[in-house]
Amino acid sequence: MFPSANRCGFIGLVLLALILAVGGCAGKRGAAAKSNPAQHASEPAGPHSYRPTPYQPEQPRGAAPSRQMESLSNTWFPRGRPISPRWTYVVIHHSATPSGSGRAFDAHHRAKGWDELGYHFVIGNGTQTPDGHIEVGPRWDKQKHGAHCKTPDNYYNDHGIGICLVGDFTSTRPTRRQLASLYRLTRFLTQSCRIPPDRVTTHCGVTRKTQCPGNFPIQPLRKALSAPAQASSFQ
Ligand SMILES: [Zn+2]
Repeated sequence: MFPSANRCGFIGLVLLALILAVGGCAGKRGAAAKSNPAQHASEPAGPHSYRPTPYQPEQPRGAAPSRQMESLSNTWFPRGRPISPRWTYVVIHHSATPSGSGRAFDAHHRAKGWDELGYHFVIGNGTQTPDGHIEVGPRWDKQKHGAHCKTPDNYYNDHGIGICLVGDFTSTRPTRRQLASLYRLTRFLTQSCRIPPDRVTTHCGVTRKTQCPGNFPIQPLRKALSAPAQASSFQ
């Protein structure tokens, strides 16, 4: 089909694109990829561990989304697999630190001997990630149990989706952007996992043995999630 000169030029361009693509991924993933090379072994190429939001799957999996789901502007479908039927609760945490990110907490949790970041999602406060930025942790893509809400039977780790907002809400409040992002994320999760709003809870609401997440306003969030999407707001 191609004259030989054109074919060589075409192959050269493809090779150049591949080299640039590989270089870019390595640069972005940096230390995290080096510290845990096996973590992404079974996943397709590209940035994964702490991917930005919104995430639109290239090829939606499973049943066609309902009309209500289609109306959502942002989706957080896990990569490479459907959402597990295991999830029955959403558990909200604060980091109890003034700053942080999913990557920072992942390193902290690993230093404690855990397998990886214990939460499924982390919402930044403008310190180490942008204000309201949602990081998707590796556990969500794997649809793996959490490590954020220990109880004797471990039910809330096995069946609870862990969301951490960066900040210490015993002395400060979540930012408006954090709350707006949390609302969008929890609306997506409660709809896609069929979790009723009264099962969106807090760490202390489960265990009664922690201050986490401080003075976080759980009732207004439940009320907003109970209202039709177009009519509700939460800030
Ligand atoms: Zn907590």
